[in-house]
Amino acid sequence: MAVASGKKAAKAKSLLYRVGRAQTGLGLFAAQDIPERKLIIEYIGKRIPTRLAQEIDRRRANKYLFEIDSRWTIDGASRLNLARYVNHSCDPNAEAESNHGRLMYRAIKPIAEGCEITLDYGEEHMELYFGAAGCLCPPCADMAKKAAKNLVKKAAKKPSKRSAKAAR
Ligand SMILES: [Zn+2]
Repeated sequence: MAVASGKKAAKAKSLLYRVGRAQTGLGLFAAQDIPERKLIIEYIGKRIPTRLAQEIDRRRANKYLFEIDSRWTIDGASRLNLARYVNHSCDPNAEAESNHGRLMYRAIKPIAEGCEITLDYGEEHMELYFGAAGCLCPPCADMAKKAAKNLVKKAAKKPSKRSAKAAR
């Protein structure tokens, strides 16, 4: 491999992303502005047969399995696979695409520097690996917050006999 030198090489090598602290554990964030349609990162790992992956999923034993097709699945549990830090969002800014057996994450909208990169994991994954609390992604958390606020507002407007008693 040639040693990179000069500004051009440094720019080409500068990473699009960095791992950082997200609302729920770690996440992957844009380290520079990422234009729409840009390939961001490859989801890397060992290829295992999808049939085996489905058995592992049934035991909820590895949440980093990413199915390419009915034959092959990538086991992305390795920490070398930085794409595993991409969190789920119900309003994502990236999507996964498979290309000749490889999985790439691509921006589906412009992602500003510092923003978290997110992907919609799909219903099956959410059912398997999201606990009773359900989805905690930012759009869902916002909705829950708004709903809670409305409940508080309603309660404040018309206090029922019961809550008036309890407030004494
Ligand atoms: Zn959500």
